[in-house]
Amino acid sequence: MPNSEHASRQAGVRRTRLYTSAQNLTESGLASSEEGRETMDDQRRLHFRFTTRAVHAGERPNPRDFIPTATPIYPTSTFLYQNIEQMDAALGGAVGVFVYGRYGNPTTEALETAVASLEEQEAALAFASGMAALHATILSCVEEGDRIVASRDLYGQTITLLRTIFGSLGVRVEFVDILDLDQVEAALRRGGVRLLLCETISNPLLRVTDLPSLAEIAHRHGARLAVDNTFATPYLVRPGTLGADYVIHSATKYLGGHGDVTAGIVATTADRRWELNEINKTIGSILGPFEAFLVLRGLKTLPLRMHRQCENASRIARWLAEHPLIERVHYPGLPTHPSHETAARLLPPGLYGAIVSFEIRHGTRERVTAFLERLRLILPATTLGDVYSEILYPVMASHRGLSPEERQAMGISDGLVRLSVGIEDPEDIIADLEQALASLA
Ligand code: PLP
Repeated sequence: MPNSEHASRQAGVRRTRLYTSAQNLTESGLASSEEGRETMDDQRRLHFRFTTRAVHAGERPNPRDFIPTATPIYPTSTFLYQNIEQMDAALGGAVGVFVYGRYGNPTTEALETAVASLEEQEAALAFASGMAALHATILSCVEEGDRIVASRDLYGQTITLLRTIFGSLGVRVEFVDILDLDQVEAALRRGGVRLLLCETISNPLLRVTDLPSLAEIAHRHGARLAVDNTFATPYLVRPGTLGADYVIHSATKYLGGHGDVTAGIVATTADRRWELNEINKTIGSILGPFEAFLVLRGLKTLPLRMHRQCENASRIARWLAEHPLIERVHYPGLPTHPSHETAARLLPPGLYGAIVSFEIRHGTRERVTAFLERLRLILPATTLGDVYSEILYPVMASHRGLSPEERQAMGISDGLVRLSVGIEDPEDIIADLEQALASLA
């Protein structure tokens, strides 16, 4: 059958632009339909020259009859439509249609759907980092003259974000002891508070917040509750089900889990997700599809990793608590921890998180440095939540900017280290700690 005849038989499927399908561009002749407009098949035969084919050949394949098992990575900055009317509808805000990379991407949306499901929220929005997620969330809640009540125990950069960026916008921030509910209530009673911000499990002392009580207090005073759930993950607790309005993650940590991506995400209601997306369309702190793919892949093993890491952490915490060179162990699973009762109430039985902080006896900076130098398996790294065990010295890293007096007031001594327990064999982690501690004896 001549090409032109075949083409006119296919004319029922009308696609009129190069973008419809350019997968089989050849130099084998030009054909057109009766009306003189190219059909999908015509496009494959258009007599494009080498340079044009180099640009377009193979792109935009026709939809075929298969469904990929894993969500593909869509590295595209724009999206095309069957016709200009559809484009007009898309640009006008049609629901569920992708428009532009800064507004949304199918791979990133798959991650958002997954995290919304795990956090038991209506929707989620992914960001370029945990800090970008925090920034957009706070921005969506406050304006000049408003007040924020925040936990004193927040991640250092979050404190800086509140003090510097929001401080300079005329937002006033009051830091409180988040475990002292009377203090929280008193701060909110002073009025004008739009946001209460805390972490489920704090860094590095692992204090566990009473989320249902905080949600009740915040809402009674007309404030929203935003919870950074990075340390707990939805495997241990889903703050949205306990009253939180926003659940924020540095997905760089446990959600990704492999130390190979920087990402953030906020799970919330569909309306608030829309508000956040409107902000992010302007700010542009979007998560790219490659990063979204990595986090989505990481999520699949989150329950397995988290379970193993919590079990390992529990074992290591008990071992450390018996060690003569350890002054004190901070782990919510130990009955000696001030948050043990809250942790037992909020977290699943026997799972108390996978971070263990501990203080080395007579812990000067020199002794801690010598201990870190001796470690052979555990990685000295400024992160947490990976499959690898990682250790951080707050005095040198997260709390470096504070004076010794400020650190002391927060309960962070010079001998304190924070261990993010990985999925390795716990015997190997313990052996590594043991040989490094032995050098201090
Ligand atoms: N929240 C917590 C509890 C963190 O530990 C971190 C980073 O360490 C962040 C937020 C910021 O996340 P990111 O580094 O992905 O911006």
